[in-house]
Amino acid sequence: MRIGVIGAGAAGLAAAYDFASAGHGVAVYEAAPFVGGQASTIEVGGGRLERGYHHLFTNDFAILDLMDDLGTGASMRWIPSSVGIYTDQKVYRWSTPIDLLRFGALSLRDRVRMGMVAKRLQRMKDWRALEDITAAEWIRENAGASIYQKVWEPLLRGKFGDRFENVAMPWFWSKIQTRFASRDRLGREKLGYPVNSFDEVFDTLVERIRSMGGEVHLESPVARVLVENGTANGLRVKHPDGTETGESFDLVLSTVPSFAFPDLVDLPEAYRKKLNAVEYMGAVVMILEMTHPLTSVYWMNIADHEVPFLGLIEHTNLMPKEMYGGSNVLYLTNYVERPSELFSMSSEQLLDVYAPHLSRFNSEFDRSWITRVHHNRVSAAQPVIPMNYSQHIPEHQTPVSNLFLANTTQIYPEDRGTNYSVRMGREVAAAMLRGG
Ligand SMILES: Cc1cc2nc3c(=O)[nH]c(=O)nc-3n(C[C@H](O)[C@H](O)[C@H](O)COP(=O)(O)OP(=O)(O)OC[C@H]3O[C@@H](n4cnc5c(N)ncnc54)[C@H](O)[C@@H]3O)c2cc1C
Repeated sequence: MRIGVIGAGAAGLAAAYDFASAGHGVAVYEAAPFVGGQASTIEVGGGRLERGYHHLFTNDFAILDLMDDLGTGASMRWIPSSVGIYTDQKVYRWSTPIDLLRFGALSLRDRVRMGMVAKRLQRMKDWRALEDITAAEWIRENAGASIYQKVWEPLLRGKFGDRFENVAMPWFWSKIQTRFASRDRLGREKLGYPVNSFDEVFDTLVERIRSMGGEVHLESPVARVLVENGTANGLRVKHPDGTETGESFDLVLSTVPSFAFPDLVDLPEAYRKKLNAVEYMGAVVMILEMTHPLTSVYWMNIADHEVPFLGLIEHTNLMPKEMYGGSNVLYLTNYVERPSELFSMSSEQLLDVYAPHLSRFNSEFDRSWITRVHHNRVSAAQPVIPMNYSQHIPEHQTPVSNLFLANTTQIYPEDRGTNYSVRMGREVAAAMLRGG
């Protein structure tokens, strides 16, 4: 068979690798001039760095297995994580159970209660019982108002904006499950990072796909899925030289976001309704190359409405700065509506909003520390998964025969991530080869 894949992110490339490995002809079309989608990289000080901070957890088995298959597994580094939380104008350590006991922003009773609630969620294996309640309601009811207001409400609001009350509890449950799974018996968390960046995974996938006769085309957006008598049989592709061609395929897999899929193909109302059930938050990610470190933690949660960003991720507190020409690398991140003021700001405007707040984390911070700024906007960064979603997930097999969809809204109950896109890409590829 000849199979067309739309999108060269984790899902599209993992699927294409399996199609090619099974002896089929495959062509991947990617709109961007690079592969890797949301986990793609840029050059920083001679090294490769993700446009948006990326790490793995120890139970990210699908991507870790794929890396082993590709021979890149030895690149994984597992590093004790250091996490902080900023609240009440103060930075608290937030990595281990001892840190939680020392978390002075809550009463001792609430600290203990918060630990017990997290432990209870970790032990709970049946997420289905949590489907008909939102994360906000569940936390308020089970952890109490002060824990909710001090910690979780600002973090939920930061991640989901005004939609934070819509997020269903399985999302929060899955976050707790993942974070606990990556901890040892003493509660110390380890995070993983491929030392040659996520690029190595995607570049190796492309290399393997091509070596098996497959094609990966960059700067080649798909404009339309070609359909005849209710069956997909090709793609209309725009090429970098400005020309457009129709390419014939027996099967088509799309990995584009739900909001973009109806632009490619006419779909029945019932399926479009399922696609529309999930909204996406966009993300604005700024990377600062700096002469000095800002903090000593890798991941800083911001639980303070006055700070105009959701998190500080100091990558060079996870990996050595020598990998980036000696620069300290700091991500400033926000999840926002698209469109919104922050989403459309220029780098200079954004930095003018953000920079005055950096001295909250290090009183010596000076803007002259910033030597270079990178700025990335992601339009489909975070799906907002509503209640009872198991009954409304769009099927991978679309109502158009031979046309399949695999995007981050179909990952459930886990939160989206490279691991789950790889798992989904491979599962959908297997189903397509079995005949749907
Ligand atoms: C800020 C941020 C931080 C993250 N941190 C982590 C992390 O720490 N760990 C982790 O595992 N995951 C993380 N993720 C999530 C992870 O990056 C994604 O879940 C995953 O990469 C999604 O892969 P995908 O293939 O499903 O989608 P995408 O990466 O979105 O790939 C879809 C591809 O389709 C292409 N495309 C769209 N339309 C067309 C078209 N018409 N024609 C051709 N191509 C098209 C796009 O350009 C894109 O390359 C993070 C995401 C963000 C935004």
